[in-house]
Amino acid sequence: RRIITAEELEEDIKTEPSLRPQTLNEYIGQEKAKANLKIYIEAAKQRGDVLDHVLFYGPPGLGKTTLAGIIANEMGVNMKITSGPAIEKPGEMAAILNNLQEGDVLFVDEIHRLNRQVEEVLYPAMEDYCIDIMIGKGAAARSIRLDLPKFTLVGATTRAGLLTAPLRDRFGVVHHLEFYTEEELKVIIIHSAKVLGVEIEDKGAMELARRSRGTPRLANRLLKRVRDFAQVKYDGRITEDVASFALDLLEVDRYGLDQTDRLILTTLIDKFAGGPAGLDTLSAAIGEDSGTLEDVYEPYLIKNGFILRTPRGRMVTELAYHHLGICSPGGISG
Ligand code: ADP
Repeated sequence: RRIITAEELEEDIKTEPSLRPQTLNEYIGQEKAKANLKIYIEAAKQRGDVLDHVLFYGPPGLGKTTLAGIIANEMGVNMKITSGPAIEKPGEMAAILNNLQEGDVLFVDEIHRLNRQVEEVLYPAMEDYCIDIMIGKGAAARSIRLDLPKFTLVGATTRAGLLTAPLRDRFGVVHHLEFYTEEELKVIIIHSAKVLGVEIEDKGAMELARRSRGTPRLANRLLKRVRDFAQVKYDGRITEDVASFALDLLEVDRYGLDQTDRLILTTLIDKFAGGPAGLDTLSAAIGEDSGTLEDVYEPYLIKNGFILRTPRGRMVTELAYHHLGICSPGGISG
């Protein structure tokens, strides 16, 4: 696996719980989502009511699970965690809902991957806090309504476009999580270094932040890799030079791009004259699944101006040519 993947890796699992912020105040960045959530949480608490259902969407590693935990924490309730692919039958979803306590948060990761029958159990549950259960068979079959405790569903997805309209419409609060700024990541890195007992200089933290692709999960992972390097090769302290040297060795360049990103850009340039190239054509050329290319690799490349998404396909930009040190056709004629 790529070291810079934003998906959770085995190596993240041990440290993620200790690095996770517990309250909205400790949560860095995502100011808009945070400000709104603060008001909704306060209002729900004043009314003694549950929080409306919340949907977070955006690339992996930006803090969706963390925010769900913070919501539960701030509301003073428990959180149950499940995910779209983990629930196969409607009965399983009904059992999970039926076991919730009043006010609980049910976090459903990858909610776009729920199958249709399971999703349909959620409609009355989200709207009226009840489920319909069929009892009996054939002509004698009838449906009975079962009341549920009031709860808050927090859904997370990397692919909001794949959510069905009836499900999406049942969320009262919808937030898109944004990539973090370098300054925000630097604060997260310094905080994580403190928790992990690592000495880090300001400039070392900035160097790490610059190459972390706007993603806290990656910032924490790179911090740990660079820490190991600093410990074995130097005196354990992460300076700008140590961070830079270690990240070069890990082949994460100064924009946070790795070989796969560079392969995407060079393929567009070499095989498609810079584009436009359709998503499927491009994904076949680099040997990646088109969904992964679109959801995992592209957002960062687009956000940082290396690729443009046009109606006719993907195109590289001048910045991509410049970053790779390749002469652009525009550059030659211009
Ligand atoms: P997602 O659910 O979007 O994939 P997570 O909530 O699991 O992402 O976040 C990944 C890790 O990044 C967390 O363990 C946490 O340590 C860190 N993280 C995420 N958002 C923040 C933040 N705003 N401030 C500090 N750390 C964060």
